[in-house]
Amino acid sequence: MTDAGQATYQCPFCGTATPGPFCPNCGRDRTAARQVCRSCRQMTPKNEPECSHCGARQVNELARKVPMIIAIFAVTIALSVVLRLLLE
Ligand SMILES: [Zn+2]
Ligand SMILES: [Zn+2]
Repeated sequence: MTDAGQATYQCPFCGTATPGPFCPNCGRDRTAARQVCRSCRQMTPKNEPECSHCGARQVNELARKVPMIIAIFAVTIALSVVLRLLLE
C-alpha cells in the first residue's frame, strides 16, 4: 500500500511539506506568484513588499517601470514642444 493520496509539495517559501495549496507553516499560497529575492536568492511571494526569508525590500517590477514610462512621456512632450517652436 502506498499513500498515493497523501502527495505533498514543498513550500517554495519556507521549505515545509505542504499537502494543500496553503503552507501549514507560513500560511502562504504555495502557488502564489513568486520572485527570487535579490538579497538572499530565495523564493519570496511577489505580493509581499519584503522578503519572507531575510526581510530585504523587494523591488516591484511595476514600481521600476513607472518612472521610466513617465520619463519617456516627459521627453516626448518636451520634444513636441521644441519641434513646434522650431517650426513656427
Ligand atoms: Zn511555507
Ligand atoms: Zn531575502
